Amino acid sequence: MAKRVLIVEDEANISQLLRLYLEKDGFSVEAAADGGAGLVAFRQNPPDLVLLDIMLPVMDGWALCREIRAESKVPIIMLTAKGETYDKVSGLEMGADDYIVKPFEMKEVLARIHAVMRRYGHAADAARRLAFDQLVIDMDSYTLTVGEKTVDTPPKELELLFHLASSPNRVFTRNQLLDEVWGFDYFGDSRTVDVHVKRLREKLEGVSDRWSLKTVWGVGYKFEALGE
Ligand code: CA
Repeated sequence: MAKRVLIVEDEANISQLLRLYLEKDGFSVEAAADGGAGLVAFRQNPPDLVLLDIMLPVMDGWALCREIRAESKVPIIMLTAKGETYDKVSGLEMGADDYIVKPFEMKEVLARIHAVMRRYGHAADAARRLAFDQLVIDMDSYTLTVGEKTVDTPPKELELLFHLASSPNRVFTRNQLLDEVWGFDYFGDSRTVDVHVKRLREKLEGVSDRWSLKTVWGVGYKFEALGE
């Protein structure tokens, strides 16, 4: 599926030029001409990347950047006019991923977009792999590594462990785990969770004192991990 880019830019000729080149490069493009419309467009149809002008009517690029960041990790590239001072530090604090100074070469814009998306893609991939002391849970290869050894683990056990370990120290009820790991259409009961936890414990017990699979009596389970 085509990656979607939202352009928020009040200068129509720049916006159209960006649209033309991005579409030619295979992106699907939506454009908004002011910050308010940009926020509406962002919420209605979340894009894969935002190109954001700084000087905009209604809501400026910084304010919009902050709004978007409060809701999403989507990559944001700021467009700044020559002469406008772009403060890199405050830009990064607002959560922008990169910036481009106008007038720009389209080649440069495309290169920056691809670079930022690659970086973002890697970050998203990284979340498929969790590492703790003596423990790696890798959902790309569906492997569990304990110490130096790969331990044979059925998919559901691994998914359950990954789910718990994705939110360390958060308590999940058995029903939450059934819904979130097995899915709503699963007809098992909460003992299924207990059985899987028991089997995981057999693989994990005594491996590290930095984390453990804990029973929270009367509630459910949590992956307890000590902070760094
Ligand atoms: Ca502008």
